Amino acid sequence: MKKLYTFLIWMLALSSIIISGVVLWFFNNSFPVHEAKAYKSIDVKDLSNRNHSLTYKSYKYSLHLAAIGDVLIHDTVYNDAKTKNHYDFKPMFSQVNYLLRQPDITIANQESMAGGTELGLSSYPCFNSPHEIADALKDAGVDIISIANNHSIDRGEKGILSATNYYRKINLPYEGAYRSMQDKEQVRVISKNGIKVGFIAYTYGTNGIRVPNGKSYLVNLIDEVKIKKDIEHIKPLCDVVVVSMHWGIEYQRFPSVVQKELAVKIANDGADIIIGHHPHVLQPMQWITRKDGKKSFVAYSLGNFLSGQIKDFKDIGGVLNIEIVKESKDNKVNISLQNPHFTPTYVSSLHQRHYRVIPLSNASTVGLTNMNAVNNEINKHMNQWLATAN
Ligand SMILES: [Zn+2]
Repeated sequence: MKKLYTFLIWMLALSSIIISGVVLWFFNNSFPVHEAKAYKSIDVKDLSNRNHSLTYKSYKYSLHLAAIGDVLIHDTVYNDAKTKNHYDFKPMFSQVNYLLRQPDITIANQESMAGGTELGLSSYPCFNSPHEIADALKDAGVDIISIANNHSIDRGEKGILSATNYYRKINLPYEGAYRSMQDKEQVRVISKNGIKVGFIAYTYGTNGIRVPNGKSYLVNLIDEVKIKKDIEHIKPLCDVVVVSMHWGIEYQRFPSVVQKELAVKIANDGADIIIGHHPHVLQPMQWITRKDGKKSFVAYSLGNFLSGQIKDFKDIGGVLNIEIVKESKDNKVNISLQNPHFTPTYVSSLHQRHYRVIPLSNASTVGLTNMNAVNNEINKHMNQWLATAN
């Protein structure tokens, strides 16, 4: 009897160890609510340790969200980043780090998949970039990357698996292209300053490369019914839903009718902030008045943040900033978007070397003539629809 008792105790201890192991593994291998970088608090009371509901207390939380456009690594750019043993893109962002680090959460569109050198690097039309671009983005202040692009499966499933494996290794959350159905079902929510921000991303297509049968999780294609469902799924888990849309017509400075109609549709489905990319040039920002009376915000295209493309506005991008305010007053919680602001940037290079992203307002230092006129024109272009909601 004593033997049986001892055996049972041992079995119980062993099962506890196994269960703890499984739980620990699960937490280490999923994307839990991610704590973004530290940021100076702005008149925010830290009530995070309270257990009971805050609903009946007055509070005001604020979170600054920033977004940048396409990071598209042409061969000229990765050749420039080449060092003796690896690739170093960090100097390319050194003059704009402060624009990306200061906001609470910064999101970028990593257009070319960072599959790494083992797969063989490649440029247009089928991109594969060094892993080190992810290190540089993270170092520059980027907290999450959208990877649903027309280039997502340029190098097939292998490219996605290698890139996402690296993003996970360096703890850089990604969205829009996934390793498995389980990976896709793990919602991406970043919590900061008492505000939870949910992220989802889609692309119009994959340049004619077919998504492998039975592996639709590899990349999120734009599908209005699916987007509505995804928003309904993530909405209860966060305060604000940010939807990245890879859409529109390349090199057009204004959104197409399709973009505009889709923006209104997904805003009414519950998308609070819509971040557009793909046209490689900047398209204006706009408020959208929803059927429920609330306002959503859209930046139709954030242009190229870093690429080998030049001229005709293709070397101009920028940083979108928007403030999310969560306020509880008179027993009601209200969430609003405030103070959208755009800071234009410029990709400087010299004979396809020495790539640097710099604030456009400093571009005269690298020889951009008419810098003031260009900067004014870009600011006017981006803000032209902000005064009135659609
Ligand atoms: Zn694209």
